[in-house]
Amino acid sequence: KKIIIAIDGFSSTGKSTLAKELAKHLGYVYVDTGAMYRAVAYFAMQNGYIGKEFFDIESLVNSLPYIKLVFQFNPDLGFSEMYLNETNVEQEIRTLEVSNFVSKVAEIPEVRSKLVEQQQEMGKSKGIVMDGRDIGTVVFPEAELKIFMNASAHTRAQRRFKELKEKGDTVSSFEDVLKNIEERDYIDTHREDSPLLKAKDALEFDNSNISKQEQFEKVLKLIVI
Ligand code: C5P
Repeated sequence: KKIIIAIDGFSSTGKSTLAKELAKHLGYVYVDTGAMYRAVAYFAMQNGYIGKEFFDIESLVNSLPYIKLVFQFNPDLGFSEMYLNETNVEQEIRTLEVSNFVSKVAEIPEVRSKLVEQQQEMGKSKGIVMDGRDIGTVVFPEAELKIFMNASAHTRAQRRFKELKEKGDTVSSFEDVLKNIEERDYIDTHREDSPLLKAKDALEFDNSNISKQEQFEKVLKLIVI
């Protein structure tokens, strides 16, 4: 039997690493919903709708019908990449600049309802691992397995900082990254429309002090198919 696995939690808790590994191991489809919110934020930046001191919400909302998001599997990488209106934006959406705007974009109810609908559609072919902030609570309240991940903000910032440096970011400081994580935590948990919450039936993991491998093995034991 194929199931839906919902992985929620704070930014940079290793949700996508775990979700990718699970999907690969089980032969499931992996969906990174954060990439969808990031692509919408990137679209808003490209069109000049959002910047340091302004956000033209109305123009973004009016453009929503023209934003086409598609995940395309890349066999060389072994996972799917995000396409925004036929363009691969996998690299562009991972910058600290996009991270700084994304939570503001994700607060808009029209953005959420569009993306949630598309995510629910993807779940119709079962055998899916989806990660995000509202998967176990809003997108798939009926998911068979729900995991909620957490780790201290400091640990998460260290991991994200290392990742950005590995990707060649030479400008962002550790303090910038930590600040971004704390700001996103705040916005994500205070959002009026579906804030980040642990679903009642979700299993919580704090991975500040365990390795990716230990975590993967623990979760695998929970899956009874
Ligand atoms: O998971 P990731 O850090 O890439 O997500 C980027 C941002 O997108 C989050 O900080 C959050 O504001 C938003 N998001 C969301 N709901 C989701 C996934 C992501 O609001 N299901």
